[in-house]
Amino acid sequence: MSSLCERLSAVQQRIQHAAIACGRKPDEIHLLAVSKTQPVEAIAAAWACGQRAFGENYAQELYAKATALTPEMGIEWHFIGPVQANKTRLIAAVADVVHAVERERILQRLNDQRPDDKAPLQICLQLNVSGEASKSGVSPAELLPLAQTCMALPRLQLRGLMAIPAPSPDIQQQRQAFAQLRQALEALKAHGYPLDTLSMGMSDDLEAAICEGATWVRIGTAIFGQRSYPQA
Ligand SMILES: *Cc1c(COP(=O)(O)O)cnc(C)c1O
Repeated sequence: MSSLCERLSAVQQRIQHAAIACGRKPDEIHLLAVSKTQPVEAIAAAWACGQRAFGENYAQELYAKATALTPEMGIEWHFIGPVQANKTRLIAAVADVVHAVERERILQRLNDQRPDDKAPLQICLQLNVSGEASKSGVSPAELLPLAQTCMALPRLQLRGLMAIPAPSPDIQQQRQAFAQLRQALEALKAHGYPLDTLSMGMSDDLEAAICEGATWVRIGTAIFGQRSYPQA
């Protein structure tokens, strides 16, 4: 079995190859190591290999890990799960980026609960691209009003969009879903919003996502192996 550092560097290489194949600069694409359900020791081990950005799905787990690992490690914490209203305080306390916001009320709470001594919380709005398996994410029509709300909140910084398309073995179908997210971002930018982030692509579709403009790919099992307990 290969070591954690080897698996991390294999994923980095996949990202590089995909970028070059699509005529993009590899350093435009960032690797988010999805560490949900993994123990803090696994995060510390990935950190020792040079990884700095970690993604978590559960608010309590994010909070416990972020407070267990010291600020001196310079870890960037991403919350990538669905955001429940009763969990926003934990998230606002420790996250740097929240990837999957889909309600105004959540934006308002994250803004109000963001501690003053922290930088504004970076936000991606989740879009429901066609063919998406889950019901999560807003429709294209709901996106602009949600972006307007986010832009008006001083303790939040809107960065871009996120999607979780339904898995497909067909790369053209994968690309179509990611292209919808890219086009939605371009439409918001045409409104004058200074956005630069597309959070899209997981272990099985990162090549298609990168070709369509991904700036964050979210990879879990390809780095850490199977999760220690099941995850919806
Ligand atoms: C778990 C998860 C990932 C990573 O999935 P893997 O299959 O482990 O690579 C990416 N994005 C989101 C939103 C997730 O919940």
